[in-house]
Amino acid sequence: MKTVSSAGTEYPIGKILCIGRNYVDHIKELENEIPSSPVVFTKPSTSVVYNNGEVIIPPYSNNCHHEIELAVLIGKICKNISPEKAFEHIAGYGAAIDMTLRDVQDELKKKGLPWDIAKGFDTACPLSDFMPADKVNNPGNLDISLSINGELKQSGNTSLMIHSIQQLVSYLSTVFTLEKGDIILTGTPAGVGRVVSGDRLFGKISGVAEINVTVKISKGEKNEK
Ligand code: MG
Repeated sequence: MKTVSSAGTEYPIGKILCIGRNYVDHIKELENEIPSSPVVFTKPSTSVVYNNGEVIIPPYSNNCHHEIELAVLIGKICKNISPEKAFEHIAGYGAAIDMTLRDVQDELKKKGLPWDIAKGFDTACPLSDFMPADKVNNPGNLDISLSINGELKQSGNTSLMIHSIQQLVSYLSTVFTLEKGDIILTGTPAGVGRVVSGDRLFGKISGVAEINVTVKISKGEKNEK
């Protein structure tokens, strides 16, 4: 079973609940509509890859994108909680990269089909260790960035989320029982783009967490610029 660590405690990873379209500038770059309620999808825990690991682009895609996101670790079981109670249930904050097979996702979107194979494949969720929540002063105001091979590609701030961390935890708790070890990916700012074999991705939540991964392709498949 995959686990994440925060302040020396290992948490078995439960559900990974991901929010789409939570930053206006990213919605615009993909020409999507601003949603009235959060767009939710999931990744299996088997999609997690740790710091200094490898993202393997599967053979059925030729356009894998990076999406840096603030990750929220749930520390206590909760159901139907108000936004005001949300922070009491958060154990820590980390950095995740929502690796997305954009070509596959676009085809699935057109057909109205679920995105799982575009978002949940093995290694689709690079994940850092988590900083304990009591060490993060204001998770709603953190710089978030991603570089490829040292070149800055994404740069934003968690204050630019449409639905705040508290709102997301509250909303998700009305749909799912949130349990210790569940993880929420809170959406990505603008600047998403393609990665290719050999790329070194460096994602950062300023002062909180960092994640480094290298991109590879499945053996024998083309995936070149
Ligand atoms: Mg995303």
